[in-house]
Amino acid sequence: MRTRLTTLLTAALAAASAVPAAAAAAAATVQEVTAIRAGRLIDGSGATARDDQVIIVRGERIEAVGDASAVSIPAGARVVDLSGYTVMPGIVDAHAHLSIRPDIRTLQGQLEGMEQHDAMQMARIVRNIRVQLMSGVTSVYVVGEVHYNDIQASQAVAEGVLPGPRIYPSGNFISTTAGHGPAEYRTTNGPWEMRTFVRQNYEMGAHHMKLTITDRARVGPNNGTPYAPGESNYTREEIDAAVNELHRLGIEATAHANGESIRLAVEAGVNSIQHGGNLNEDLMDLMLSHDVGFVNTYTIGYQSVFNEWGFLDNEAGNIRDWLERGRKVHERALAENESRAQRRLDRLGQLRRSKEKGVGVGIGTDSMHGFMPLEMENLVAAGFTPLEAITAATGLNAEIVGLDDEVGTIAAGLFADIIAIDGRPDEDIRDMGNVAFIMVGGRNQTGLSFR
Ligand SMILES: [Zn+2]
Repeated sequence: MRTRLTTLLTAALAAASAVPAAAAAAAATVQEVTAIRAGRLIDGSGATARDDQVIIVRGERIEAVGDASAVSIPAGARVVDLSGYTVMPGIVDAHAHLSIRPDIRTLQGQLEGMEQHDAMQMARIVRNIRVQLMSGVTSVYVVGEVHYNDIQASQAVAEGVLPGPRIYPSGNFISTTAGHGPAEYRTTNGPWEMRTFVRQNYEMGAHHMKLTITDRARVGPNNGTPYAPGESNYTREEIDAAVNELHRLGIEATAHANGESIRLAVEAGVNSIQHGGNLNEDLMDLMLSHDVGFVNTYTIGYQSVFNEWGFLDNEAGNIRDWLERGRKVHERALAENESRAQRRLDRLGQLRRSKEKGVGVGIGTDSMHGFMPLEMENLVAAGFTPLEAITAATGLNAEIVGLDDEVGTIAAGLFADIIAIDGRPDEDIRDMGNVAFIMVGGRNQTGLSFR
């Protein structure tokens, strides 16, 4: 995981000094060329900001990036002047659901809400991904939808009929009887059913898949009751079968897992962990030794006190208003509930310790659409520098969930998913709310409004 980012960085530095003009000229179709002048550039690799950079975008990809004095702008290129801004890779949300809107209903109620008519699901998706895009998110890594709606939405965005971030779809939830997920998909039991489900999702176009491994019952009268120590809703042979089938197909497995369930997932060979709650030193060491990172999902914890979607749809003027509302709900929830405040402190300690040990800490909204900047603020509260929080949201997130050869950094060959911030987010992370420019795959998506 770590090694890939390093390789990429080296490649990017090499590419910065050598523009592959011959290769570009040989391209079969004429592609639009855009030159972006960046006053400051944070490339997402973890490197500090560089002043006065130029990015050349040809078609949907980055062709070159480097010092303004070293990169020549091709004749006829459209020039986008962002010399007054901090330019950075678009944000990667590494734990996203497209259709859910979490609020004060129960968790199970939300998941059952995913079983509404597909037309309603898609209406929500259109809305939610617009909000994500306006917050600077240019890629979403989906971790469970229903009826392949994420695959449909992914195609609609790729066609250009729908504004939205690049969607990496996971297809339908895979879960067991008595496990976690919508009722319709809590049905897969036994190694061969696992393999069949994986193959069906793959046939429909899933990019990767998520297993929901839980150490306790998640439905019915036994909801919350732990299984025997070291057990989960899946047997080991079921987890092994699913992971093996995914890897046979050449795609990645991620797993919803907290506490000891993380051990089951990591030992079965999953590529990344979602949530990764209740960490201890042993589990951090285990992830580190297997080069597996985890995706922290903090803001979804507001769901039991959060009922603000009407504000987003009808009142919020811009993403700053939305983030401010999120902060307010969060602060009130902490002030009103001592045990919540204590749980938060415990978790911040786990995040800090993970980073110190070198475990990859990524972040995701888990359907709190538009709140990636708040996830970044949470890392800063845990003791990350603002630059480390930016890296977590971009290059490192992409690396943890296996997207780093396509997105997450500003480097030659990658998709031109680029945003600009009015301010210096590497000094004050709250500046992330000032998104001034958004490009996805070379297409300028700036100027969307909530209404
Ligand atoms: Zn989730």
